[in-house]
Amino acid sequence: MSLPFDFADGVLHAERVSLASLAEQFGTPLYVYSRAALETAYGAYANACAGRRATVHVAVKANSNLAVLNVFARAGAGFDIVSAGELTRALKAGASADKIVFSGVGKTADEMRTALRVGVKCFNVESIPELDRLNTVAGELGLRAPVSLRVNPDVDAKTHPYISTGLKSNKFGVAFEEARATYRSAARMKHLEVIGIDCHIGSQITQISPYLDALDKVLELVTQVESDGATIHHIDVGGGLGIRYDDEEPPEIGAFVRAILDRIAERGHAHREVLFEPGRSLVGNAGVLLTRVEYLKPGSAKNFAIVDAGMNDLARPSMYQAFHGIDAVVPRKGAASVYDIVGPVCESGDWLGRDRSLALEAGDVLAVRSAGAYGFVMSSNYNTRPRAAEIMVDGDQAHVVRARETVEQLLAGETILTA
Ligand SMILES: *Cc1c(COP(=O)(O)O)cnc(C)c1O
Repeated sequence: MSLPFDFADGVLHAERVSLASLAEQFGTPLYVYSRAALETAYGAYANACAGRRATVHVAVKANSNLAVLNVFARAGAGFDIVSAGELTRALKAGASADKIVFSGVGKTADEMRTALRVGVKCFNVESIPELDRLNTVAGELGLRAPVSLRVNPDVDAKTHPYISTGLKSNKFGVAFEEARATYRSAARMKHLEVIGIDCHIGSQITQISPYLDALDKVLELVTQVESDGATIHHIDVGGGLGIRYDDEEPPEIGAFVRAILDRIAERGHAHREVLFEPGRSLVGNAGVLLTRVEYLKPGSAKNFAIVDAGMNDLARPSMYQAFHGIDAVVPRKGAASVYDIVGPVCESGDWLGRDRSLALEAGDVLAVRSAGAYGFVMSSNYNTRPRAAEIMVDGDQAHVVRARETVEQLLAGETILTA
């Protein structure tokens, strides 16, 4: 196998399976993942961590399909979750609870209880009220909750403002200046056990320097917190490593991991466990979204190719003006025109790609690339559109790992008034 998604005999393939035949067999819109691509990306993290006290906790929110999570669980991954729903998914996919870290800014008491009962590795806590609540809930259960504080190192991750999380102006984390005092508060709470520190400065980060800046601040804090009597067993550096959508040049996964681990060692913290929480860099380029051209609509200002996948299927373009490569699955020889690739949803923001030069005819199948992260998981039923099916390709085999939703399923929970 060469690339996980590559052309063979003029047809785009996922591993050894033709994407044209998948669109024919399973219909569109259709998400298609490559098992080999998932394993390769995970392997890059795992290999770079080998021989170090470092572990990988897959961010479930980037792609939470059970089959995808199961590929990682089988490879030995831990998981990073942000809800009780994701906890259920991770466990069902084969994760062991003691390899799950629970992140998120708004955990409910119910979610805390569930996670405490199954015995997650750590709660990544983001505020004093959350510490208070967790202390109370753990006390009621007669347990001690393992806690890490998510600190906000106030560094600029140099990414899109909607996916930057490490600045003072973001809602995430404990402000850096308040972190030491917050650790002191945590130490006084009887049903908490402080075990770590974490940060997560944003997503689609294409440089290592913001990570190293954040890390230096975090390590300085670790020294202070330990001088106050706490023990910080692990440092969780979060996720956020970028991928290539267009012409970005993010660091290789291995180089990124080694840069972080080397910096931690240089600063004298090699004895601590290090956690990585990658999402996008594991799954983003392991998936494509297939969509069929319904209509070509030429115009004086713009040509539109109206396709059967919309912003409800893939929100990133409309939400972040994100770029996704778009290829015809069977490219035509004829002259190309410039199209905006738009969906059927009744919103002007419903587009997948702008100004794309393609030779198209109605009925052609397009592959929207790099759709494995924040793709299906962000899809909605807007316009009463059932969500797409998901396929996992493994060599020359294709498995349906999520059936296409039906309109009946969408309506199942609704009732009308009887009087
Ligand atoms: C979203 C998130 C991640 C994963 O981010 P990616 O950019 O997909 O790698 C990791 N940790 C936390 C706390 C997150 O919120």
